[in-house]
Amino acid sequence: MKTIMAANWKMNKTRSQGEALASEVAAGLEKRPEGRDVLIFPPATALNIVSQSSMGRFETGVQNFYPEENGAYTGEISASMVHECGATWVLVGHSERRHIFNEPDELIARKVNFAVEHGFKTMLCVGETLEEREAGDLRKVLTRQLTSALSGQSPEAASSVLAVAYEPVWAIGTGKTATPADIAEAHGLIRDVLRALFGSACEELPILYGGSVKPSNTAEILGVDNVNGVLVGGASLEAKSFLDIVFA
Ligand code: PEP
Repeated sequence: MKTIMAANWKMNKTRSQGEALASEVAAGLEKRPEGRDVLIFPPATALNIVSQSSMGRFETGVQNFYPEENGAYTGEISASMVHECGATWVLVGHSERRHIFNEPDELIARKVNFAVEHGFKTMLCVGETLEEREAGDLRKVLTRQLTSALSGQSPEAASSVLAVAYEPVWAIGTGKTATPADIAEAHGLIRDVLRALFGSACEELPILYGGSVKPSNTAEILGVDNVNGVLVGGASLEAKSFLDIVFA
């Protein structure tokens, strides 16, 4: 399985800023990182131009969409709109969607099902809050988030189009990175739940770590068992630091 090096720009970069950053990243990928796939989730307004700037060196995905074909859903965007902008991936269940926009497990499951049915590769984010961790609920939270979002999926989807990103909420954008032992424990738990859902097909499903990844900690994180990539927020907003992560 290839290692996935993913950037989540969140609500940063205008269209022209996105074009400049994507072009710099594409130029930096002239010599391709061996065994690594690069993926960028720009804001929707920059998706088209970022896809066009990739020179085929990275894929793009959308950070959010609504799971209906079209219709009276003011403010939302559909999967076919996203598809035409060149996106091959969708991000679902990011903690900012869960906690700031109150997305429930049921909507997250609908989004995963819709995205897979419509041919998107789908990255599901899961992770516990500090409160849940301190209450000893890590296993319970991860099991609930994974099972509710993925139980409609087949082993074939698990081995070809699904990815999971473990992002402890307390480590996102805080500068606090989980320790290698924390990461190993959570990724091991996630692999166990995926094995229960999909059997041996789960071994092909990449599990990424996200939460204050930077150039200086990437190699150590990628060396942890069951870590098959990273999802990077803040450190992906500048070409040099993201490229340093990609090549770490
Ligand atoms: C993220 O947004 O998915 C993330 C992990 O952010 P950061 O790297 O800034 O913690």
